[in-house]
Amino acid sequence: MRKLIAGNWKMNGTSADLPELAQLASTHSGSSVDVVICGPATLLSRMADTGLKIGGEDCHPANSGAYTGDISAAMIADTGATYVITGHSERRTDHAEDDALIASKTEAGWNANLHVIICIGETEAQYRAGDTLDILRAQMDQSIPDAATAATTTIAYEPVWAIGTGLTPTPDEIAAVHAALREHLKTRFGSEGAQMRLLYGGSVKASNADDIFALPNVDGALVGGASLKATDFSPIITALQ
Ligand code: PEP
Repeated sequence: MRKLIAGNWKMNGTSADLPELAQLASTHSGSSVDVVICGPATLLSRMADTGLKIGGEDCHPANSGAYTGDISAAMIADTGATYVITGHSERRTDHAEDDALIASKTEAGWNANLHVIICIGETEAQYRAGDTLDILRAQMDQSIPDAATAATTTIAYEPVWAIGTGLTPTPDEIAAVHAALREHLKTRFGSEGAQMRLLYGGSVKASNADDIFALPNVDGALVGGASLKATDFSPIITALQ
């Protein structure tokens, strides 16, 4: 399987930031791993012009219609993007998105020929209570539609308490969670589950990337803050290669 490193710019970025992408594109063209930047809808077309793989950060489950302010998967694909994130914890928390909605958005992404990165993750309280694996298995069962394949779908494990905090689980904890996620995917999807990429996300930076990428069943990363500047993101990409 080809490894994947995806940046998530969140609600950051204007045209002034496009040179960051041009620099990434020239440094990592021909990379042995897939490099994707998921950015704000307002920038996607111009991001795609850099030649990098581009993704949306969310999509609506419907193709079109009376949904003021929303963006459909088809619109994202129309910009030249080939990926979309669904189920990011900031969507789950700030927009009260549940697993059923995330599954619908995922199907919408596939219907628009987008590769979907489905995010799952436990809160700090769930982590402290020792409920991490139960929460993750339930999120996978309900937010990953039955038709998922390795070609269309990537799973990103992002502990909510690790996103943007500088905190990460220990390498042993990440390895144990990813091993359990892999088993769960294999049980449900067979050989497709064995091949489906499993990303880690949450405060990945150049200083911890080598340790995280050395772990079994970690097939790449979803990176927020450290994807905004080429000088921060580039060494993380290099660490995965
Ligand atoms: C994210 O937003 O998906 C993320 C992992 O953020 P950060 O890398 O900043 O923790």
